[in-house]
Amino acid sequence: MDRLLPRVLRVDLTRKRSWVEERPDLFRDRLGGTGAAIELLHELCPEGADPLGPENPIVFAVGALSALYPLASKTVALFKSPHTGNLGESHCGGRTAFALRLAGYGALAIEGRSDVPVYLSIHDGGVRFRDARTLWGMGSSVTVGRILRDVEPGSGHRTILRIGRAGERGVTYAAAIAETYRHFGRLGLGAVLGSKNLKAIVVSGQGAIPVAEMGRYQKLYRELHERAVRSDLMKKYHELGTAQNVGPLNEMGALPVRNLQATRYPEEPAFSGERLAQGYLGRRLACAGCPVACIHLAALREPHPEEPYFYKTTFVSYDHEPLYALGAMLGVEEAAGVLKLIDAVGHVGLDAMTAGVVLAWATEAFDTGLITERETGGVRPRWGDVAVYREMVRRIADRDSEFYRVLGEGVRAAAARYGGAEFALHFGGNEMPGYHTGPGALLTYLAGARHSHLDSAGYAVDQDLLRRGEELAPPDLARRLLAEEARRQVLSSLVICFFARGLYDFPTIAACLGALGDDWDEGRLRNLGAEVLRRKHAFKVREGFRLATLPIPERAMTTPAPGGAVDEEYLRQALAEMERWLEGNDGLEG
Ligand code: SF4
Repeated sequence: MDRLLPRVLRVDLTRKRSWVEERPDLFRDRLGGTGAAIELLHELCPEGADPLGPENPIVFAVGALSALYPLASKTVALFKSPHTGNLGESHCGGRTAFALRLAGYGALAIEGRSDVPVYLSIHDGGVRFRDARTLWGMGSSVTVGRILRDVEPGSGHRTILRIGRAGERGVTYAAAIAETYRHFGRLGLGAVLGSKNLKAIVVSGQGAIPVAEMGRYQKLYRELHERAVRSDLMKKYHELGTAQNVGPLNEMGALPVRNLQATRYPEEPAFSGERLAQGYLGRRLACAGCPVACIHLAALREPHPEEPYFYKTTFVSYDHEPLYALGAMLGVEEAAGVLKLIDAVGHVGLDAMTAGVVLAWATEAFDTGLITERETGGVRPRWGDVAVYREMVRRIADRDSEFYRVLGEGVRAAAARYGGAEFALHFGGNEMPGYHTGPGALLTYLAGARHSHLDSAGYAVDQDLLRRGEELAPPDLARRLLAEEARRQVLSSLVICFFARGLYDFPTIAACLGALGDDWDEGRLRNLGAEVLRRKHAFKVREGFRLATLPIPERAMTTPAPGGAVDEEYLRQALAEMERWLEGNDGLEG
């Protein structure tokens, strides 16, 4: 391990102080990323902390391979989530990982609360607390980024993270935005930053990372780069991006439509990857250090309302999850409408996935009479009505009234206040991702450390079993998912993009670390994955999370997945098995 990775930059916003701590104990055996960050969170976050109080820390971390190997391009953020009340974990690409690593830090931990809005400016080993009062309250997060781009140094080597109005006002699913098109989307990092009066963080770094065996490193780098750009492993991400999932999921009846009242459109949706690429794709982008460039930007061209031949062109980044949540989930029919909604949530700084599911809950609640125009302030939510949804997004971000304030806390809070729990699509408080493929997906959402489809990829297991015509007993499915989630903890500790999971198997990771002078083997990596997963679960349990009593949304069981309706008893048996393993009672290792 090089001497730079274990450096943790600590920032105390209350006292406007910063200092560096050397923590080889955290990085040597955990590789960095999630492995190191979960330990820091256990240390720095007091039990029962108010997620929006100054005592809730934010830990950003990168890993041993960051800025060195292809696709080791992400940063993790860990904090106590204001949305679920337990573990908040979010991953983001862009340039954050490069900037932090080349600035000479493995982690950045932010604590306290500033008395006035500030942004952090971190360059050349110095931390400055800059007045952000003129940025606070700005209509668009894009404008904030543009201003900081002009006034801050480090162009080309820096990251610009910022929040929008939703984060300032404590919407519990507010996002933090990096480099305009990348997000720390889920679980409310934006709200935690807002609660600290921290509008933005700018970091630049131009250092160099020492490499123990340069020849071996260069050879490995070339091989990985070649495989990333020439083999079929990454091709689909470059060509259509994850938007390519929309069509097949629709065809197989696994795309949640209109609050999961249905699972397909009669025909291929207008916002499928193929149709967006043909009609809208303007350009592709890549995170720093990635040769794949999966970020697809649509050029949305809108005519001037009065002037002929005048157009406004907006670039909107799209992938499967926002298309599902702000398209299918809301029954939107036209591609331009979905893109406009994605753009609207980006401007105010909301998590697109949660925002879509919240709007879907509100539409069904309005349809069934649980809420009326009295609550909505005269707005009539209606499937597919993009103009109305844009207006609601604005009101949620502004916390416009009691109703929109509650909507700003997600569907669990909305159903607790107004009813409709049976169609509130949340899993442990986090809103449903875009795959209704079967029990594997539901178990991932329920039991995954961050309730994300990416935790253990049950959606892929479901599709694999369907293809083979096989079924697994609940304990077997539970173990298969846990094994995958444990494996992914190693990727998260190195903060490798999950799209490169086929590229980075354990022997390859061990070889990459070996070239840097770190001695790891497959067994040690496997143990690390299991340990990190258990430490995450332990944090959740510490904060009151219980798998055994976790509510399962009724709608997710009554609306059949492609293999048929999912049985609650099946899920409960699998969850019990997962709990035994996560709490270490069955002696399993890895
Ligand atoms: S594949 Fe996409 S998300 Fe992953 S690092 Fe590359 S550009 Fe970023």
